[in-house]
Amino acid sequence: MRFAADRMLGKLAKSLRMLGYDTLYFSGLSNGKFLALANDGRVLLSRNTRFVGKMAPDRLIFVEANDPKMQIKEIIRLLGLKPDADKLFSRCTVCNGLLEAVEPEDVVGRVPDHIVSCHNRYSECKGCARIYWPGSHLVRSREEITRLFGV
Ligand SMILES: [Zn+2]
Repeated sequence: MRFAADRMLGKLAKSLRMLGYDTLYFSGLSNGKFLALANDGRVLLSRNTRFVGKMAPDRLIFVEANDPKMQIKEIIRLLGLKPDADKLFSRCTVCNGLLEAVEPEDVVGRVPDHIVSCHNRYSECKGCARIYWPGSHLVRSREEITRLFGV
């Protein structure tokens, strides 16, 4: 399942990306352009009451919760999502790009020196070239995912 989150749901978008879900999010998008994102099969997630009734309820989900931690739980429960363990941390939380493993020598000068000296596994976002390493994501482990998102 692929998503697009409206401008009020930036943290929810990041959480979904961390779980591996393809999730578009643009902070400055007009309402019309946001609704048009459903045209390529994405499920829209919104806090905007004005959108309710404009699209089928399975195409646009009104997110009830205000707290981002509750929002992700609400979506997981509502849609019965079962995040794939292989896809956790497979996406850039900033731009939604896919991450690809890179060699430690490729990241020298691109991450702080103290990081280079204590990590040897890195991945690079194919979208924005941001470098990730274990611990650079907001949460790091399966246990934390379970605790935070209840999945
Ligand atoms: Zn990126």
